[in-house]
Amino acid sequence: MGFEMKCLIEFEPILKKSSSLSPYTFSGLAGVCEYLAEPRSKEELAALYKACQTNKIPFKILGNGCNLLVRSAMVSGVVVKLTNPVFCGFENLGNTVRMGAGASIFAAISFCSQNNMAGFETLIGIPGTIGGALLSNTSDKSGPISRFVRKIEVLDSLGNLQIRDKEEISFSDKGNDLRDLVILSVEFAFEHDKTESIVKRLRKAWISRKIQLPLGVPYAGKIFKNPRGLTAASLMEQGGFQKARVGGAEVCDRDSNYIVIHPHAVVEDVLRLIEQIKQGIRERFNVDLELEIAIW
Ligand SMILES: Cc1cc2nc3c(=O)[nH]c(=O)nc-3n(C[C@H](O)[C@H](O)[C@H](O)COP(=O)(O)OP(=O)(O)OC[C@H]3O[C@@H](n4cnc5c(N)ncnc54)[C@H](O)[C@@H]3O)c2cc1C
Repeated sequence: MGFEMKCLIEFEPILKKSSSLSPYTFSGLAGVCEYLAEPRSKEELAALYKACQTNKIPFKILGNGCNLLVRSAMVSGVVVKLTNPVFCGFENLGNTVRMGAGASIFAAISFCSQNNMAGFETLIGIPGTIGGALLSNTSDKSGPISRFVRKIEVLDSLGNLQIRDKEEISFSDKGNDLRDLVILSVEFAFEHDKTESIVKRLRKAWISRKIQLPLGVPYAGKIFKNPRGLTAASLMEQGGFQKARVGGAEVCDRDSNYIVIHPHAVVEDVLRLIEQIKQGIRERFNVDLELEIAIW
């Protein structure tokens, strides 16, 4: 372990040095991080977070890397993946379900469908984890994920465990106030419904998603937050950015808020394309598009 990281020596069993992040991002474009950590318990995660805060070591959580661009330069500090089963489980509490932040949206849909809980089935095909989905308030045509939220278990900025009720968090198109917290688990409330009805809605959503964003292609997205009363995609279309391209990065013709990653693309292509779009929209419509996608 590097000299400068002696303060992390007790975490050596869970730290991997100079780990490539590209296998962990949806676009497949990413450099390496200084340390990749996979904590084995909430307590270990909290202790690692506190050690990083105390020693001013950058600390980041990686979900499934679906709403994230990682530059080719090394990401300094510690990147945490919540892959241990303690962060990926589901607990049926009767009227609500507690889901680990590291669980995939797909596994959550599957758990809900098997337990006759309706609501998540229309998220089918959206990649990501519960933690990542909550942070960006992932939504589909039926509405945002926040409408099912009851409670959120987090580590606050001091590394202390806290439970936040939904009422304490403001969710909006502009984001929410979870940005500086580590999300550990989320309690959701669902309506009960018959399996056949849930499966029917799931199939319908799956078909329309395959039309919206054809599968089997790497994407970066969603790129921008929707400005008040507008959608980023429609602004980009009006601004002539449909199918705009820089190197191997191209605006998706089905949904302009996603960028198709062609073979041989580099992350800098995506970043340059984003900059061109932002500048063009500012000049043409006097609107400053805010990024939804995280850039490390
Ligand atoms: C093909 C494709 C289709 C998509 N379709 C949709 C769609 O229809 N609707 C929609 O709303 N979005 C959509 N998205 C966006 C994306 O899927 C969601 O935002 C997703 O939920 C991100 O989750 P993630 O685990 O991949 O997060 P990541 O990309 O890994 O992380 C994103 C951000 O969340 C933070 N984060 C992740 N987990 C935690 C945690 N536990 N605690 C604190 N911070 C955390 C990360 O630090 C980072 O800043 C799509 C993306 C792609 C690539």
